[in-house]
Amino acid sequence: MSSTRTITILGATGSVGQTTCALLTETPERFSVIALTGNRNAAMMIELARLVHPEFIAMADAKAAATVRDALVGTSIKVASGDEAVMEAAQRPADWIMAAIVGAAGLAPTLAAVRQGATVALANKESLVCAGHLFTEASKAAGGRLLPADSEHNAIFQVLDFERPETIDRIVLTASGGPFRTWSTAQMAQATRANALKHPNWDMGAKITIDSATMFNKGLEMIEASHLFPVSPDQIDVVVHPQSIIHSMVDYRDGSTLAQLGLPDMRTPLAVCLYWPDRAGTSPHKLDLAKIGQLTFEAPDEDRFPALRLAREAMNRGGTAPAVMNAANEIAVKAFLEEQISLLDIADVVEACLLTQPIVPLTDLETVWAADKATRAAAEHYIARRTARLAAGQLRR
Ligand code: NAD
Ligand code: MG
Repeated sequence: MSSTRTITILGATGSVGQTTCALLTETPERFSVIALTGNRNAAMMIELARLVHPEFIAMADAKAAATVRDALVGTSIKVASGDEAVMEAAQRPADWIMAAIVGAAGLAPTLAAVRQGATVALANKESLVCAGHLFTEASKAAGGRLLPADSEHNAIFQVLDFERPETIDRIVLTASGGPFRTWSTAQMAQATRANALKHPNWDMGAKITIDSATMFNKGLEMIEASHLFPVSPDQIDVVVHPQSIIHSMVDYRDGSTLAQLGLPDMRTPLAVCLYWPDRAGTSPHKLDLAKIGQLTFEAPDEDRFPALRLAREAMNRGGTAPAVMNAANEIAVKAFLEEQISLLDIADVVEACLLTQPIVPLTDLETVWAADKATRAAAEHYIARRTARLAAGQLRR
């Protein structure tokens, strides 16, 4: 990588976005920042703007945009607001774009980034889950490239022989098991928001942390993997590995298993994406296996964590089923974070939506939006009805 690489970060103010900005400051001479986007966190955006000097900032929220604009008066940075501004940021020509907006809100900007033929580091897993082939096909058509930023997929990306897919037996995604790995179902029924937000190994945004606690995160990641790698759904497995040192593995037909190891720190997969095809960047932490002592593995318990079964069903059904699963889960996680439903209700909401929502073939983003919108309404209705029945004493928590 000789010339300066132009960079845009969608979702810069989030956990992945901030880490990406921090990496840029290690070798500022290699990068020139085109755009940063955020939603409401004006203070964080102001800090990042002073750190990486973008040309353009988009804040989805108008009030936050005004605060950022005031703070950056006197600089040449242009600040705009609204969803259109986030789309403009995604469309501004850049060599490398980090897609790190959380949830379905990231779909349209991520697709815009992919369509300009950029190298897109994909953290927004919802894009692949909801509309995987639209993203992979758009990237191919535009002559771009998708780099998986999610740690498991980044691990597989590093060890998979893309030239000889016929030699692959299966890929194995590792899962930490989350904070409830050893809890009984009865204990999990009482889990609080604070219990679920305490991830044993990874420091991440709230939504993905809850998804790790229910294992919906691993479910989403199985679907993500089915779009990124040349394997069929039945070649995708999950193993629980509580230390989160092996980030995923590829089993080859000859009996070899190749794994990527590292400390659970997003800086590593993000640096792999940022410098690809180079390998650069440094980590302040060194992996000391003797100190860690033991790496352990166990099979996932699909009775306590129905998310894996639901995700597999959605993956096998295809069409809009994964989008339905994703939308129902987003609404259920929000309701759990607002303490309206219990942790175990999350999978119930998702299962109810998968059973009742029509599943249709996926042709374009409009099909995804329609499924997403209808499922959100259905999930909200299901939650409201459940809350009302609980209040009336017709149901027990
Ligand atoms: P986060 O909640 O910390 O940050 C989310 C970002 O999205 C913020 O910049 C926020 O401003 C922006 N955003 C939210 N709603 C928006 C809206 N309506 N319009 C525009 N922007 C909006 O999330 P995160 O943990 O950084 O995760 C980002 C994505 O990366 C998610 O899809 C997540 O699943 C994935 N991911 C995260 C990690 C991690 O370590 N945090 C690891 C793997 C994958
Ligand atoms: Mg992951």
